[in-house]
Amino acid sequence: PKGRSFFDDSLEAAEALSGWRIESLVNATKGKLIGTDCSHKPLNSITIDSRKIKSGDVFVAIIGEHFDGHDFAEQVVAAGAGCLIVERIPEIPLTLPVVLVKNTEQALGDLASYRRACMREISTPQVAAITGSSGKTTVKEMCAAIFLQQWPEQVDAPAKRVLKTEGNFNNLIGLPLSLLPVSPKHKAVILEMGMNRPGEIKRLTEIAAPDIACILNVHGAHLLGLGSIEGVARAKEELFAECDKDTVLVINNDDVRVVSLSQKYERKKLFFGLAKENSDSLDVYASDRKKGDFEDLFFTLHVAGQQAPVHLQVPGLHNILNGLAAAAIAHAAGIDIAVIARGLSAFVSTDRRMEVLDGPGGSRIINDTYNANPESMKAGLTTLRGLGAGKRFAILGDMLELGGDSEVLHKEIGAHTAAVGIDFLGVIGEFSSFTASAAIENGMDENAVCIFSKQDECHAWLTEMLARQNAEKGSYVLVKGSRGMHLDKIVERLIGT
Ligand code: ATP
Ligand code: MG
Repeated sequence: PKGRSFFDDSLEAAEALSGWRIESLVNATKGKLIGTDCSHKPLNSITIDSRKIKSGDVFVAIIGEHFDGHDFAEQVVAAGAGCLIVERIPEIPLTLPVVLVKNTEQALGDLASYRRACMREISTPQVAAITGSSGKTTVKEMCAAIFLQQWPEQVDAPAKRVLKTEGNFNNLIGLPLSLLPVSPKHKAVILEMGMNRPGEIKRLTEIAAPDIACILNVHGAHLLGLGSIEGVARAKEELFAECDKDTVLVINNDDVRVVSLSQKYERKKLFFGLAKENSDSLDVYASDRKKGDFEDLFFTLHVAGQQAPVHLQVPGLHNILNGLAAAAIAHAAGIDIAVIARGLSAFVSTDRRMEVLDGPGGSRIINDTYNANPESMKAGLTTLRGLGAGKRFAILGDMLELGGDSEVLHKEIGAHTAAVGIDFLGVIGEFSSFTASAAIENGMDENAVCIFSKQDECHAWLTEMLARQNAEKGSYVLVKGSRGMHLDKIVERLIGT
């Protein structure tokens, strides 16, 4: 395996895994020990947050956009830190061990990588990694729901057996922090990998050394840092390029770019997809898709020749696809189809991702305000069109980080809104006029399209419009935009009225 080998034998690895010692910190980071050598003192968790330091913790001084961890050295020492990892010697009395490294962000990754390598030597939890432009967190949470069916939390042994990326901690700092708590009690680890520059996924893969690697899709997200969609594809491919020969590759057969980039890798591969015509050649697919009474969906899950019924509690065809990705990952981890189906049926939507809430006048609000890119916008609008029997409102904010393509891509969304047949469109943000004019040019009634300069105006318009609708029929409102647009504020006000 490509993964770094720090140990001569598994006993050594087991000892290293039992807790952090100064020696392992130095060994893992290739740093230099200065300050006091207290190698006999046991150390606790590794943290980068000066406010969360507990006695005996290791503090890694990360230099971030807004803060420099080195500025908090005195404070963390006063709070009982057991060791500091720094790239600049702090001007404080060095009454504790301090590991000097070239780069603390690199060191954090090295520590996670070391721990992962220890674990690999002594136990066999499955580590799965997911990258892609849209749906990483959703698929990660779906996998976690499945893993939890397989390894439920036990009342008498409160330790969790499934480790996952917390929230959206998917970058060069977040992924190591998510992985660091790994221990032999864990049966499965599920990690999300995000990026906005080439090279990031490569490094994350090196750290996580996944047993299972999934590329969900390649969309035009983060174009600003990557130039073009081909640039995005190359950056995602780093996951397959960097992982081990034994790693199982999980591939979205519906995404031509993912299929094409996967072709050069000779590994065990699992293909999932929605396209019916391909089902003969797919390892994981869905048949008999049916809508439920509300936003729920029914389908038959097929995994490697077996089948089981799933009742998904979240709306959208793209969420069936996400479910198939999670099923393929779980299958690669050796989980039985019945357990997979139970996990998917138990999954509930997570924080601001297709979250369905009760709104004013009997309406239902789809809070999809966590983020937005062109493909996820289209998926959201298509989902909205398929819901309920009343009027459908789309409240769309700008998609950020699209660089020079912003105008064109906002126009595409306007055109898509008209094409799928949304009844009312409210837009907000710098690019809103492009979305609005394209919607009108493509057939939406001018009176059904509004541009707002403030959220207040949008909220007032929506409240009034919803009050006019027939509550019996039930209207649906999709609220979506990039996170920087803060459209969740509108949702909060709508559900509070
Ligand atoms: P981030 O890059 O912010 O970490 P992510 O990849 O983790 O995003 P999610 O948070 O799971 O993605 O979902 C973000 C939005 O993308 C959702 O609100 C949903 O509307 C949309 N989405 C989820 N899955 C897909 C998919 N397979 N195809 C298109 N859009 C999707
Ligand atoms: Mg995410």
